[in-house]
Formats: sequence, C-alpha cells, structure tokens
Amino acid sequence: MSIHATRLAVRPVRAFSDNYIWLIESPRDPTQVVVVDPGDAAPVMADLHRSSSSLAAILLTHHHPDHIGGVPELLRHRQVPVVGPNDARIANRTLTVEDGERCELEGLGLSFEILQIPGHTLSHIAFWGHGALFCGDTLFSAGCGRMFEGTPEQMNASLDRLRDLPPETQVYCGHEYTAANLRFALAVEPANSAAQEYQDSVARIRAGGSPTLPSSLSLEIRVNPFLRCDKPNVRATAEAHAGKKLGTPAEVFAVLRAWKDQFR
Ligand SMILES: [Zn+2]
Repeated sequence: MSIHATRLAVRPVRAFSDNYIWLIESPRDPTQVVVVDPGDAAPVMADLHRSSSSLAAILLTHHHPDHIGGVPELLRHRQVPVVGPNDARIANRTLTVEDGERCELEGLGLSFEILQIPGHTLSHIAFWGHGALFCGDTLFSAGCGRMFEGTPEQMNASLDRLRDLPPETQVYCGHEYTAANLRFALAVEPANSAAQEYQDSVARIRAGGSPTLPSSLSLEIRVNPFLRCDKPNVRATAEAHAGKKLGTPAEVFAVLRAWKDQFR
C-alpha cells in the first residue's frame, strides 16, 4: 500500500489575524510534527507544548514574513531541517527544493512532490503528497493570492497545475479568506449553485468559529472563479467587466484578478 493512501493528520494553528500555520503529524509517530509556513513561533510552540509534540521539520512555501517570520525562534528551540524554494529572501534554509523534486522527510514517513507555482511571488512552491496540497498564498478557497511578483500568465498557469491534481486532493491554504472570496465568486457567477451552497455552509462554519479549510480541489473547481477562467459564463462576465473581448484564459484571469483587487 502506498503511503499516499493514508489521510494525513493535519491541524491548523492560527496566527496574526487570518493566517493558518499547518501542523502535519508524522504517520509513524504522531508526536513528531512538521510545520508549514510558521509566520509566528509563539502559537506553534504553544501547540507543541499542549500536545506534547516535537518539531521535526519546517516547510516553507514562499518568503513573505507572515509565512517565515517564526523560523529563527523555532530553530532556537530545536534544530530541524528547513525546506524551501531557492530564494535569498528565505534565510535558515537547510534544503532547497525545485519543481518536480520529491522532498522525503526521512524517518517521518512523509514525502511531498514540489510544484513551482509562481505568481503571488516568483519563487513560490507548493508541497503535494498523501492527498494533501500545501499551497501557501497561491490558491485560496474560492479565490487566489494577489500577484505581487508574477504575471497573469504565470499565475494562471500555476493555478492550472493545481487544478489538474486529483480532485480529492485536500487543499491547505495560508489564510482564512473564504467568506470574502465567495462574495466575489458570486459577483462573477451569481447563478453558481455550488458557490451559493458553499456560502451558506461557510457562514455556519465561521459563525461557529471553525476554519473553512482544508477545502478540496473538487469543490474549488466548482466554486473558485480563478479555476474557471475557461468557462463561457466566466469569460462573458469578465468581458463585460473589461468592456472588451478577451482572448486566452490568462486574459480572463487577469481581468478577474484586477477586479478582485478593487472589490469590496
Ligand atoms: Zn504571501
């Protein structure tokens, strides 16, 4: 049986106003924990203490401070491998990974494929394995990250790569933006019944104070306008918003992303 058949045990640690730091338990020893994008060390340390767990490795998707800011403090407590993309802005890296490489965490029973997904930042990567995707600030539930460094073509190609992963993939994003993203998704596709139903369930989940994540790729393909740039109705809405005909799905994406940047 492949190790990918076992569903990972992953829990969120909240940080700042809306970040999620993800803690992955080793399938071999649940007290050994891998942390994804620790922007702040204190809430991670508190979780490890409370759960009598030990930090075993750190995975980093991109260089933004709210994703890497806690690394030095965590390393002061315990020297562990730090895996991240090739980017001088990410200090403390002990293992640099590139697109298509496999990141094997020896002894932990964890193995992830690296996907280079530029757009939010140029060196942004995702970790994919065990049916789970850790995609940082590239894909959000019902939305996507802002393009700080990449082009619409790059960001759209990155989202296409994520969309092509198995639909049952569990999607672990870096922020709780789902409710606001759905307001935009429904502005783009007011008649999308999957998005309407999701908005109702997200409202209930948030009223109870729980995370809306992980999402699944199959849900995102139905509700996320940024994964639906090839749909005729999404194109038509983007063309109406832009006031002109649009060519490629990347052009549709560019219009949606710019619209979302202004959307309140
Ligand atoms: Zn970011």
